[in-house]
Amino acid sequence: MEKVFSTLRSFIDNSGKTKFCITCGGMATQEALFDVGDGVTLIEKYCDTCAKKEVH
Ligand SMILES: [Zn+2]
Repeated sequence: MEKVFSTLRSFIDNSGKTKFCITCGGMATQEALFDVGDGVTLIEKYCDTCAKKEVH
């Protein structure tokens, strides 16, 4: 399945639970949205550092 980067946005935690970066396990502050086709959006969470490294 092709994964096309769409948007990077600040991740605001409103659930009271800490979310973790999928790359380094640090606290997530950004979320990247990818279009994977058929109108489906995949969201991956990253910290600031990994968002810069992983998302282009
Ligand atoms: Zn990270």
